Amino acid sequence: MSFIADLHLHGRFSRGCSTALTIQNLEKWGRIKGLGLLGSGDFTHPQWFEELKTELVREQDGIYYTSTDYPFMLQTEISLIYSADGKGRRIHNVVLAPSLDVVEQITEALLKRGRVDYDGRPIFKLPGPDFVEMLRQISTDIEVIPAHVWTPHFSLFGDYNQYNKVEDCFKDQTKHINALETGMSSDPAMNWRLSQLDDYQLVSFSDSHSFWPWRIGREATVFETKLTYQDVLKAIRTRQGLKETIEVDPNYGKYHFDGHRNCNVCLSPAESLKNNNRCPVCGKPLTIGVEHRIEQLADRELGFKPKNAVPYRTIIPLSEIISTLSGKGIATKGVWQTYNKLISAFKNENNILLSTSKEELIKTVDEKLAELIIKNREGKIKVKPGYDGVYGVPLIGKTKPVEPVASTSPDYQKGLNQFL
Ligand SMILES: [Zn+2]
Ligand SMILES: [Zn+2]
Repeated sequence: MSFIADLHLHGRFSRGCSTALTIQNLEKWGRIKGLGLLGSGDFTHPQWFEELKTELVREQDGIYYTSTDYPFMLQTEISLIYSADGKGRRIHNVVLAPSLDVVEQITEALLKRGRVDYDGRPIFKLPGPDFVEMLRQISTDIEVIPAHVWTPHFSLFGDYNQYNKVEDCFKDQTKHINALETGMSSDPAMNWRLSQLDDYQLVSFSDSHSFWPWRIGREATVFETKLTYQDVLKAIRTRQGLKETIEVDPNYGKYHFDGHRNCNVCLSPAESLKNNNRCPVCGKPLTIGVEHRIEQLADRELGFKPKNAVPYRTIIPLSEIISTLSGKGIATKGVWQTYNKLISAFKNENNILLSTSKEELIKTVDEKLAELIIKNREGKIKVKPGYDGVYGVPLIGKTKPVEPVASTSPDYQKGLNQFL
């Protein structure tokens, strides 16, 4: 069977996460988005773990199901901050686990090294290789996937660490690293420019911290395999059963280009180099984005496709499309109404984005929107690059999209109530 999976999520106990991130809401949005498997998020957090044990009532083949039969895989993200080879290091890792029992052992092992209760994504002063070794001693079925590997502050290849190879970070444990999460600001084509990555599976997940439906599943991985922990693991480890990934345009990611958010400066790698990687406004070093780091490490031209590469699609979330076309804020009633109308007609967002024909679409929405959905499917929507934590902006129509409201504002609650 084929299913779309988002295996990097967070629960409401992670810092900066929406309080609406409950298992029920994740299920609800997973269904609306058309996702067939979700990561549980944050399994080391004591309260969240209790909720997982209560909400996930049935286990089969390492997959845990809610009472309404929606599948989750046990997953968390762990931040490692340490020094190695005379330099400070910071990496994030997605961790997948085969059972609640294994999760308990992971948490126990981590508790010997720090706390797990202050954040769904806790931090440990533990070098990458030691972390992998520790987990493999618990179970060889645990998978560690370096997260959003190109982002500047907390990733394997990011500008902060300056690691140039997976081996530089994971040393003798590199043999147990099978897949890399490309993150929003890079897509497979960018990663194909590095011959050293040919043997790694490139996976994509959302790393969503909010309940908003245009965040969950905005990037995802499509599996063509049985829905069991072992089959998903095999696909991640061997590529067998890995069908394709769903990506946003890398320009849409928050760290595609270089820049300074506060100085309103966004520069391409070439422009940054002309400025010695310093901000033309404040003179301080720029936040170096993903495109820049890939340029530094690439040994191939853009356009090279390795043999046996897993294909991918470039898609912008539906709510963004509706919002930018109409010129209305993404969390406004008008946008929700159109979104809901489409969902009730075509069941879920991925059906609409990936397969519903234009003839079908125009029965429910106007031709302009239908055309834009098709254009999106063909990867033809241009996006203004994101930088230094600022999301990229799809260039549709004449209107400037309105930024989503903060989760602390009353409008946020109003937005939620459109659905709850
Ligand atoms: Zn992260
Ligand atoms: Zn600046």
